[in-house]
Amino acid sequence: MSTATHKLLKGFTGDWEVVIGMEIHAQVTSNSKLFSGASTAFGGEPNSHVSLVDAAMPGMLPVINEECVRQAVRTGLGLNAKINLRSVFDRKNYFYPDLPQGYQISQYKSPIVGEGELDVVLPGGGEIRVGIERIHLEQDAGKSLHDQSPTMSFIDLNRSGVALMEIVTKPDLRSSVEAKAFFTKLRSILRYLGTCDGEMQNGSLRADVNVSVRRPGEPLGTRCEIKNLNSIRFVGQAIDHEARRQIEIIEDGGEIQQETRLYDPTKGETRSMRSKEEAHDYRYFPDPDLLPLEFSQEFVDDLRAKLPELPDAKRDRYARELGIRRDVAGVITAEKEIADFFELMLKRGADAKQAANWIVNVVRSQLSKSEADWTDADGADAAGPRGPTGPTGWRGPAGPTGPTGPTGPVGPAYNWSVQVMGPTGPSANTSVLQMVSSQKISGSAAKTVFETMWDRALKDGPIDDPSLPERIAKELGLEQVTDLSAIEKVVDDIIAANPDKAAQVKDKPQSLGWFVGQVMKASGGKANPQSVNDLLKSKLGV
Ligand code: ADP
Ligand code: MG
Repeated sequence: MSTATHKLLKGFTGDWEVVIGMEIHAQVTSNSKLFSGASTAFGGEPNSHVSLVDAAMPGMLPVINEECVRQAVRTGLGLNAKINLRSVFDRKNYFYPDLPQGYQISQYKSPIVGEGELDVVLPGGGEIRVGIERIHLEQDAGKSLHDQSPTMSFIDLNRSGVALMEIVTKPDLRSSVEAKAFFTKLRSILRYLGTCDGEMQNGSLRADVNVSVRRPGEPLGTRCEIKNLNSIRFVGQAIDHEARRQIEIIEDGGEIQQETRLYDPTKGETRSMRSKEEAHDYRYFPDPDLLPLEFSQEFVDDLRAKLPELPDAKRDRYARELGIRRDVAGVITAEKEIADFFELMLKRGADAKQAANWIVNVVRSQLSKSEADWTDADGADAAGPRGPTGPTGWRGPAGPTGPTGPTGPVGPAYNWSVQVMGPTGPSANTSVLQMVSSQKISGSAAKTVFETMWDRALKDGPIDDPSLPERIAKELGLEQVTDLSAIEKVVDDIIAANPDKAAQVKDKPQSLGWFVGQVMKASGGKANPQSVNDLLKSKLGV
């Protein structure tokens, strides 16, 4: 473990090590807000999901939402963290127009979740262990709208009071690659747990990154914090730019000032937002309207017993029980939607290893090939490999014509995530594999059938008809000829036309391959290679 790939950066004066710690805000999946019964639904009319508590009307009292507590505990358990049976809500005081209370209810000295850890496999191999410092619960603020009127700003309080988990890591990350891999893994675990939907383009998951640089082996340098990154790609870009900026300053004889910065993705640079001197004094104190949050060990144990299988456990089980290579199993379980798709294929009768390889080498590689066709430019990789949403986010080039439509709710017609797995479903893909196993089509014909199906689905909407692959194979004339009598004539002709080669085969068995190739060519690739091989062997007496 912990074979961290210390990717040192080169400066003019030698090597630099980047040190990164992240603070991640994850919106808790819950129907109602942290201290009120108002809805948390995204995309409502401005100020349509606002209770008197969220609007901070005088005399209103917060009441803790038990579901949000459960979600924070489950998240802590998923990150192997210490759950604190007693925690305290504090007031974090600051003035902002979209913060009607004049303070945010948060947790400061006594958070609900303490130290934990997360193991992360890096792209290209290697594994790191990232320490979690704490997770606390807090309220989100509202939103100021500055672009609705030339003279006025408006406030939308729909988000005000929505529960957030702030997940803080130790300064354990050493490169943008590690930070992105960590964030991707964390997002996946939140989604497996169902404690945050991870939809970055909706603001459900955002990250602040703390970046410093140092000479290898030296104590930690002064850090800058880059706020509010809403895609995994931006996290990587912001770190790379910030590290470079700091190295240049130090190598020019300057010093890093601790400050908060913003990343501008269009310019590809970070710029100062406020310095340490301007930092807020939040005057934290325990919120007198709320008792300390206390629950029993049984409450925690019960939640632990009901946790779903998480990606690492699933990966190891697939490797152990299904004999799938660990790295392949890692890809299959990297996102819940991929594992779900895989398990649906198994249910339809697909062979486990075949299905796993098919998903990795064919389905997912098709997705990355047609990436441009169906993702948002902005934060497209937010969701790891593919967009962050389920079928609702579908945007094929011809527009979404499937049952769910472009913005509709997740349609019952799909049992897989179109966004993550593409427009062809598990039943149809299983049929393609079964046609290969039963030698109806060759492996390369299977890819052609798949691609044809994919292109149709891009035009007409998602497809999962298990009989379609067979029809496509027929239409395209891809079915293999296993019928010996049909092949026999071709074999005889080729042997007759090459008597000298035929005579040599006994001494040079490897030239059998040449004959197989000739027969395959003459049959337009449709002959079943195994039947051809068998037939040639018996005819040539080898
Ligand atoms: P504060 O109390 O000022 O918010 P914390 O100690 O809570 O500071 O750290 C906030 C985040 O900054 C954590 O994710 C932590 O890992 C990270 N961090 C702390 N020191 C450094 C450093 N020198 N370089 C990079 N990240 C750091
Ligand atoms: Mg902090």
